Amino acid sequence: MSSKSQYLNPRNQPVKLGMPTSNKIDQDDAHPTRHPERTMTAAIIDGKQLAQRLRTEWKLRADRLNALGFAPGLAVVLVGENPASQVYVRNKIKVCREIGIRSEEHVLGADSSLATVLALIDRLNADAAVHGILVQLPLPPQLASNTVLERISPLKDVDGLHPANLGSLLAGHPRFLPCTPAGIMELLKTTGLDLRGKEAVVVGRSNIVGKPIALLLLQAGATVTLCHSQTQDLARHTRRADVLVCAVGKPHAFGGEMIKSGAAVIDVGINRSPEGKLIGDVDYGAALQRAAWITPVPGGVGPMTIAMLMCNAILSAERHAAAQGVKLDS
Ligand code: NAP
Repeated sequence: MSSKSQYLNPRNQPVKLGMPTSNKIDQDDAHPTRHPERTMTAAIIDGKQLAQRLRTEWKLRADRLNALGFAPGLAVVLVGENPASQVYVRNKIKVCREIGIRSEEHVLGADSSLATVLALIDRLNADAAVHGILVQLPLPPQLASNTVLERISPLKDVDGLHPANLGSLLAGHPRFLPCTPAGIMELLKTTGLDLRGKEAVVVGRSNIVGKPIALLLLQAGATVTLCHSQTQDLARHTRRADVLVCAVGKPHAFGGEMIKSGAAVIDVGINRSPEGKLIGDVDYGAALQRAAWITPVPGGVGPMTIAMLMCNAILSAERHAAAQGVKLDS
C-alpha cells in the first residue's frame, strides 16, 4: 500500500484527505465525527460514457457476425404490463438496434400460465436464430421466477442467472457474468483501484446483484463482507469499506456517516423520490463529501447493465457461430 499512485482519482489528481495508508482496519479513522475537517469531492464514475464506449467496441464484433451472415439474435420475454419493465425492455430493444443485434420481443399477458411461459422458452431454446434469451423480471406472482429462469438453456442465458451459470461463476470459470455485477466491475476498473487486499462491503444479497458481485470482488482479491437486512450495526461494516456496493432498494439509506473517507461507492439502487425523480440508495450529496469515487443515479450502474447484456448477447452469438464452424478470424 505504499504506492501513492493507487490513490489518484480518475482525473489524476491526488485525493485530498483521509486516504487509507494501510490495510489495518481503523474505525476511529473512518468515523467522520473524529475528523470533522475531512471532506473531499468524489470523482464521479460516468457509467453512461463507459457504456457508450463498450457498446462502440462491441458493435464491431456484431458487425463482423452480421457480415458473415450470422446475425446475433436476442429474444426478450415480457410477461404482464409492469410499466418499469416495459421501459427496461424498450431500452434494451433500442440498444440492440443501435449495436446490430436482431431482437425479438415476446409479450405475454399478466395472467399467463406457467405452462405457456415455459412453452415459449422451449421454443426459443430450440430456435437457431436466437442466441440469447432474457426474461424480464419481476414476473407476475403465479410464475415462480426460479422455475422460469431454470428453463432457459444455460448456453443462451445472457442474464447469467441460470443456476448452472451462477454455479460456474462460483467455481471461478463463468460462462456468462450476470449483467449488473459485470458492469460494476467495469466501473471499478476505471478508478484504477487495485482491489487486492481491499475491504469490500456489499449490502444486499440477491442472486441478481449482491451475491454475484460479492463473488467477483472476492475473485479480484478483495476481502468481502456481505451484509443484508439481518446484519447487526450495518454502519460498523460500511464505515470500513474501501469499496462499498449498495444494493438494497431503499432511497438514500446510506448517509455520509456510513461511508469511509476515500472509498469507492457503487450505488446500484433505483428508487423514486416523492417528487418522482430517480434516486439511488446512497445520499449522493453527503457521499460526495466522503468518497473518492461514486456512481451517480441515474447514469451509473444502470447504463452498464444494458451494455453488459449486449456484450453477453454478442459473446453468445460468437460461441454459437464457432460451434457451427463459422470462422470468426477471417
Ligand atoms: P432485492 O432482491 O429486493 O434485494 C434487496 C437486498 O437488500 C436483500 O438482500 C435485503 O436483505 C437487503 N436489504 C433490504 N433492506 C436492508 C437494510 N435495511 N439493511 C441491509 N440490507 C437490506 O433487490 P435487488 O434486485 O438486489 O435490487 C436492489 C436495488 O438495485 C433495487 O433498487 C433495484 O431496483 C436495483 N437494481 C438496479 C439495477 C441496475 O441496473 N441499476 C439492476 C438490478 C437491481 P434480505 O436478503 O435479508 O431481505
